[in-house]
Amino acid sequence: MFQEIPVNEKNIYAFKATGKLTKKDYDEFLPRLQTLIHKYGALSLFIELEDFRGWEPKAGWEDMKWGMEHDEDFDRIAIVGENRWMKFMVALADLFTEADIRYFKRDEAQQAWDWLRKVGESESAKQTEPREALPPVQIQPYEHIVAALDFSRHSDATLQRAIELAKHYNAKLSLIHAVEHILFEYADADMIIPPADFLEEDQAIFDSAKAQLEKIAHRTDYARLQNKVLWGSPKSTILNYAEAQNADLIVIGSHGHKGIARLMGSTATGVVNSARCDVVVVKLPE
Ligand code: AMP
Repeated sequence: MFQEIPVNEKNIYAFKATGKLTKKDYDEFLPRLQTLIHKYGALSLFIELEDFRGWEPKAGWEDMKWGMEHDEDFDRIAIVGENRWMKFMVALADLFTEADIRYFKRDEAQQAWDWLRKVGESESAKQTEPREALPPVQIQPYEHIVAALDFSRHSDATLQRAIELAKHYNAKLSLIHAVEHILFEYADADMIIPPADFLEEDQAIFDSAKAQLEKIAHRTDYARLQNKVLWGSPKSTILNYAEAQNADLIVIGSHGHKGIARLMGSTATGVVNSARCDVVVVKLPE
């Protein structure tokens, strides 16, 4: 399936490709891409591959050939995934011959965003100009806050702190929740069970998370609010969403469902270590 990752800029379209792609996936995806190109001109793509298993025979290349006719409509394409997807990446690159394509490993996702956004490129052109004195440091008010909610017993404290901060800065507030495919929950068992066998169960978990998050958003008294449930591991989903949205603050709980094993849970530790924006870790009771 394809899942769109909401992005701040209009000229970047980001999505995650998971499992086996079907004809229905393409039928939903390609018109969306066409509409965006029509509306905003050349696009850059951020494509994250997670547990990608190719495409159903009928779904594949016939539809993807669409890309060839739209070569000039793509500026840069960043593909983020593991090495084992390389075969797919090479095939994809063949379709978009005019576009500038680069591959990034999963832990290089932030570099992929920088490359798509051309961060530092115009600065390097200016490097020969004499340097101006640095302006005094100013603390900017936060504009977009992301709150990571896992629906655990104490996640309300994380939500309340995020609302408080959003109100204080009059910032946009995104409530997000990540749903992992069942495969990952079985990953440490002897037998790896492919997620395709669990599609319905997976979707039911996703739908119930969506309903739960919407309920939370509905009873939250703050207007500049959006909410999104995304597929993926909590750490990479939180980091990727924050990057895609140019968020400047992530609010996360110190631990989740499993209680305190160490000072901070693995998600909070991973996000604090890798985020490029500020992170508030709400210390939750045991
Ligand atoms: P943990 O690493 O499970 O101890 O979780 C620490 C914090 O990470 C939680 O308090 C949440 O703020 C966040 N978190 C964990 N799992 C998820 C998830 N599935 N979706 C969104 N946020 C999460």
